[in-house]
Amino acid sequence: MSSSAPAIAVLGSTNMDLVAYVPAAPRRGETVTGREFRTVPGGKGTNQAIAAARAGGSVTMIGAVGEDEFGPRLRAALAGSGVDTAGLRTVPGPSGTAHIVVDDEGGNAIVVVPGANGTVTGLAPGDEERIAAAGALLLQLELPMAGVVAGARAARSRGVPTVLTPAPARELPGELLSHVDLLVPNEHEAAALTGHRDARPAAEALLERVPEVVITLGEAGCLYAARGARPLTVPARRVRAVDTTAAGDTFVGALAVARGEGRAMPEALAWAAAAAALSVQRPGASSSMPRREEIDAVFV
Ligand code: ATP
Repeated sequence: MSSSAPAIAVLGSTNMDLVAYVPAAPRRGETVTGREFRTVPGGKGTNQAIAAARAGGSVTMIGAVGEDEFGPRLRAALAGSGVDTAGLRTVPGPSGTAHIVVDDEGGNAIVVVPGANGTVTGLAPGDEERIAAAGALLLQLELPMAGVVAGARAARSRGVPTVLTPAPARELPGELLSHVDLLVPNEHEAAALTGHRDARPAAEALLERVPEVVITLGEAGCLYAARGARPLTVPARRVRAVDTTAAGDTFVGALAVARGEGRAMPEALAWAAAAAALSVQRPGASSSMPRREEIDAVFV
């Protein structure tokens, strides 16, 4: 990674996704035979960190894995994409896991067990310095709220801009929002936060709480709104999607890199949309995330 690569810190979850592919999901009391099983590194924090690193960021991950066999694999997956894992602590007990059943119609049912992620209720020694050294801090809501708030507070006190993906949707404490610079919900999360199903009124309502908002709208693109400016719609690229898992995380990781390079928001959003469009054309989550050269190659 070149020394001019934008420095990005991610405070978030690291999970091993345990994915079973079945003809139809079992009902209560039923046992079904699956056709395939995969273990895939995931969690929104790890996904955003890998997306940002592949897009050209110099990324440091803050979070926790367990003392089980998944811990080293999760660490290796991050390191393999160039993410610094010095801030990823190893704690007693299991790593976070997501137990996913995917049926033949592409529907899924998921149980997330937070494991080590649940221990991140605050910052560990060295974390504040990691955040202070970054040009942006990416946050999501798969850690305990106290940990997320502690990260946002540290970023604010060190003058580091924060980007919050409010997923999974839950109520946001006022203190957290007071430290958020850019909020990036998808349309469902925006509706859950504001009660507005349409993106424009939802964005207007969110601007009363944070200075900048990007609402992602799947294949309809995204809506960007900032206080005192006209909202901007950025279309998604027309592609044949085969798996949209982690499209949002790819988008946020790439957006953070583009912003860190000083690109204006319209161009940064279009570049992030190009990255996300590449990811939806391939199966998988972090495995589908594009490298910088691939994004640049389609960004014309
Ligand atoms: P996920 O939860 O799967 O990570 P999300 O719901 O957070 O996704 P989306 O709004 O679905 O996020 O997608 C984020 C961005 O990815 C969109 O703004 C768009 O640019 C791109 N994208 C998503 N789906 C498609 C698609 N079918 N075709 C092209 N681009 C897409």
